[in-house]
Amino acid sequence: MGIDIKTLNTLWINGEKLEVEAKRSVKNPANGEKVGEFSDGGRKETSLAIEAASVAFPQWAKLTAEARNEYLLKWSENIEKNKEKLALLLTTEQGKSINEARGEIEGCRKLLQWFTEEGRRIYGEIIPASNPNQKLFVYKEPLGVVGLITPMNFPAATVMRKVGSSLAAGCTIILKPSGQTPLIASALFELLIDTGIPKGVANFVTGNSNEIGTELMEDSRVRKVSFTGSTIIGKKLMDQASRNVKQLSLELGGNSPAIIFPDADLDKAVELVVANKFENCGQVCNGINLIYVHKDILEEFTEKLVEKVSTIRVNVGTEEDCDIGPLIDRGALDKVHALVVDAQEMGAEVLIGGKQLIDEQFKNGNFYAPTIVTSVTNEMKISQEEIFGPVATILSFTDEEEVIKVANATPYGLAAYIFTNDLARINRLIAVDGIEAGNIAVNGTSLAYVQAPFGGVKESGMGREGGKQGLEEYCELKYVVLNY
Ligand code: NAP
Repeated sequence: MGIDIKTLNTLWINGEKLEVEAKRSVKNPANGEKVGEFSDGGRKETSLAIEAASVAFPQWAKLTAEARNEYLLKWSENIEKNKEKLALLLTTEQGKSINEARGEIEGCRKLLQWFTEEGRRIYGEIIPASNPNQKLFVYKEPLGVVGLITPMNFPAATVMRKVGSSLAAGCTIILKPSGQTPLIASALFELLIDTGIPKGVANFVTGNSNEIGTELMEDSRVRKVSFTGSTIIGKKLMDQASRNVKQLSLELGGNSPAIIFPDADLDKAVELVVANKFENCGQVCNGINLIYVHKDILEEFTEKLVEKVSTIRVNVGTEEDCDIGPLIDRGALDKVHALVVDAQEMGAEVLIGGKQLIDEQFKNGNFYAPTIVTSVTNEMKISQEEIFGPVATILSFTDEEEVIKVANATPYGLAAYIFTNDLARINRLIAVDGIEAGNIAVNGTSLAYVQAPFGGVKESGMGREGGKQGLEEYCELKYVVLNY
């Protein structure tokens, strides 16, 4: 068992490789070189995968959770044995620093461990009946065949969150990874197949996303599609889902604020904001988009932020002295730069960065300088759109009521970060009439813990991943009245 990039270009259907002649290339975002190829599958291959998953479902669903766990724990062992190779592949394909890649692969094992433990605790309910000769039972059953579509920014962790929880809950799956990062998903999938998991339980399709998505949405045997990606594609899937009332879980984009009050520990706030904002070169769904700073501390906070951001080391991700690598592709780089230029034209000021890096070691890659833009207003595109790049924007505010209003004036509602030591204020901000977000961190910026239900409100999505709620996304309630 090993990982050979040259063999990661096939589809997996019913436990067998399916060769497709047409291939697409994957490029290393750090230097533009070809990393490998993946199969250009479409409707036909997806239909075969759905058929295999449908046939495999009843037996997999009837297994005990312990029996299903044997495969998942073996998968976790396989990942552990290959962790350095997986981390290297992740960095080469996606661009993130090798240290972040190692953390993501280690996180995959932790996710699997938790899903296997929690998969044994999908409890039903017995409800007191109204009639002495009745019993009312509620069962939580595996949902059925599910389609799983994952994005490019955490291409290993998002695969594991979906595949680990759906298989633990007893569903059978068709996984479709991002076309920008299919190789790490393919490598993880091969390690799953190596566990001897029954044929058809787990299927893997790459290629034309529109065709694959349409087949998953139109085939009524697929009971749910769980999607992580942009809001625009999420809306398209919602539209398609209405035709056969297919269930959806949507983990979509964000436009998350960090709000810094004068009583906050400023050094801590700066450190945590920078760690969140620049992780994965700013390509994080719950990454901070807008930093609202109270006017009384604006100057001091800005100075400290500039000082900290100046120390960020940009490099090719495989080098150990790298904090951030390149953006995923040229289109992403152009979009980020256009937002910065637009903000400047509307009166914002670039304090550092604001340009592509073109020195010798960066010249064939998609590197953008860590950037701070200040005097940003809510009318600028940069504050309305998800930046998804290494650009921190500073906006100022004068009072709590005002900042709640402007922070909520966005269609998104994924995450928010509040820095203050005033308990009463914290209570007001996290209350139902406070900040509108599915996930809020107070005096911190870490949110994605496997035991907690992560997800968005408004146009940031529906459904939750992680926590017992995340497993229940893959279950259906069956209510039974027993008369005797
Ligand atoms: P994306 O462009 O929306 O792509 C996501 C996935 O959807 C990819 O696998 C893509 O395949 C597929 N896709 C594209 N068009 C499709 C269609 N018509 N039907 C079905 N599938 C389709 O997003 P991304 O650039 O990979 O990821 C970044 C976005 O994901 C950001 O908006 C980020 O905020 C969001 N995200 C959200 C969360 C969360 O938990 N809320 C977590 C991570 C990322 P191809 O690549 O092959 O086209």
